[in-house]
Amino acid sequence: MKYRTILLFGAPGAGKGTQGKILGTIPNLFHCACGDVFRSLKTDDAVGKIFLEYSSRGQLVPDAPTVQLWRHFIEGCTQTGRFRPADDTLVLDGIPRNVAQAEILKDSLDVKAIFYLRCTKEEGLVQRLQRRALKENRLDDANLDVIRDRLKTYERESKPLLDFYGRERVVRINADQPPAKVLLDILRKLLKL
Ligand code: ADP
Repeated sequence: MKYRTILLFGAPGAGKGTQGKILGTIPNLFHCACGDVFRSLKTDDAVGKIFLEYSSRGQLVPDAPTVQLWRHFIEGCTQTGRFRPADDTLVLDGIPRNVAQAEILKDSLDVKAIFYLRCTKEEGLVQRLQRRALKENRLDDANLDVIRDRLKTYERESKPLLDFYGRERVVRINADQPPAKVLLDILRKLLKL
């Protein structure tokens, strides 16, 4: 069975997590942020160690452990009834994050739309990440060099996903707007899917 899915897409700091958390409170939408799944691992966990090693350098965690961890998480949520694939739409944030992951997940995800949160100003992204570093105690947000590396990784590895899913599924959202307005734009489009 394929999960009915919408993807939240955009640069680090574009607001995927903020929007995803709100969307996840709406009945029949189940939000899953891959970064949060990684951060929930203990530091003595094997994948938790790999995560720290890569994320602290602004790089993506290798595809195999990432997808395996994600599957395990989703299956756990299905078993406990938090996620009900027959009724719910999966709101994915941070996965797939490159074309290789999208290929691996092709048979598992029925991607209805990809919401592309666009920020026109890179400096705005950097400021948001630096503010978040203080609030959420995230090491990968604290260092300017790591932030720049993550933005480069996004351009190089994640951006090609837009072509992979094709123009007809990409919904562009102006993420320079206040969060409530971004949400409104997403919901308007979501209701039409
Ligand atoms: P952001 O989008 O702000 O960078 P995330 O929480 O989505 O924040 O990701 C933090 C880090 O977790 C990434 O820089 C990367 O190292 C790792 N990560 C998250 N999702 C994936 C993924 N699907 N594949 C590989 N690495 C990932």
